[in-house]
Amino acid sequence: MDIFDSVVAHGHERVLICSNPDAGLKAIIAIHSTVLGPGLGGARMWSYASTADALTDALRLSRGMTYKAAAAGLHLGGAKAVILGDSKTQKSEPLMRAFGRFVESLGGGYITAEDVGTDTDDMEMIHAETRWVTGLPVDRGGSGDPSPVTARGVHQGMKAAAQRVWGTPSLSGRTVAVQGLGSVGGYLAGYLAAEGAKVIGCDIDAEACAEARDRSGVEIVPPADIFDVDCDVFSPCALGAGINETTIPRLKAKVVAGAANNQLAQEDRDGAELHRRGILYAPDFVINAGGLINVYNEYIGYDRERALRMADGIFGTTLKVFEIAERDGIPSYLAGERLAEERIAAVRRLGPRHWERTALERVPIRP
Ligand code: NAD
Repeated sequence: MDIFDSVVAHGHERVLICSNPDAGLKAIIAIHSTVLGPGLGGARMWSYASTADALTDALRLSRGMTYKAAAAGLHLGGAKAVILGDSKTQKSEPLMRAFGRFVESLGGGYITAEDVGTDTDDMEMIHAETRWVTGLPVDRGGSGDPSPVTARGVHQGMKAAAQRVWGTPSLSGRTVAVQGLGSVGGYLAGYLAAEGAKVIGCDIDAEACAEARDRSGVEIVPPADIFDVDCDVFSPCALGAGINETTIPRLKAKVVAGAANNQLAQEDRDGAELHRRGILYAPDFVINAGGLINVYNEYIGYDRERALRMADGIFGTTLKVFEIAERDGIPSYLAGERLAEERIAAVRRLGPRHWERTALERVPIRP
């Protein structure tokens, strides 16, 4: 597809191609929407097979950030950056600083953060060139590991689904199957066990399994068997695309609610199939917004208690998504998107601003 057709099809406001051959930098910053505020999204460093693949990833991921921020009620738009290269061998201070200069050139319209292939050390180097960066180390005023906050939000989203299906938010006595016991899955298993749920989990990493078993009493099953577990809730917390045409028929759960991004292999097909089978799907981008909520709080001045309180708000947001699904007679994954679209449309209707915003004015009022 032609680059311009691609940008138009995704509805982007601005796409910046960043090149600095001296620093070895090739990057793309995609700003999908700034209707609700500056676009905040991580910088992913990845060895893409082609520049076209990198562009597609940047466009797709940045659009997803718009929806995630809007549904979470944050004063943020959606954006994402991809840095082309091998994060293990091609990272350097000049490369990160060169990237930071491009971020700075956008005057606060894009705020960067960690993502796959980048870490807090990289954010510190970027910070040498721009203040439009989050995910700094805790000892530099950063917000630290987002995983516990993400897990807290996923837990709340799962409880909202329980409320909808069983008439009570309590997961005590329920069985939850957790696929992936890494950072988020590990914390989530702990929260669920503390609430009195039975947790059955798996991971391809034996160490992660042992830790979840010893810490939270998780019953471990082989990764290949997790979809067949007799459970009330299935929680994808590994990689994307786990919910697909071969795994859905195996599910015993009444609820699917987890942290993984892009859980549905094909949104339309798999979202509709879950709906048809009477399995309630808590949309991933709605319930895994805790990580974004955490860096948003870093951006406005970090306060741990407020970040956790906002993550708890995912309970109410998820219930709202289910209400929209019922109101409009649509599957929940579409209702999540509709919630985001309605908020963006309502703010867009304010019309154009009659003044230029400076970067500083973009800092939102503390909620
Ligand atoms: P992680 O890498 O710490 O954990 C993922 C775990 O899944 C790893 O332990 C890995 O071994 C395991 N895994 C991979 N493939 C598996 C398989 N086939 N079967 C079983 N286990 C498998 O990552 P994380 O930070 O816990 O994130 C988990 C998911 O949640 C990812 O999809 C991520 O994009 C998403 N997410 C994370 C955050 C966050 O704050 N960390 C925020 C939003 C979304």
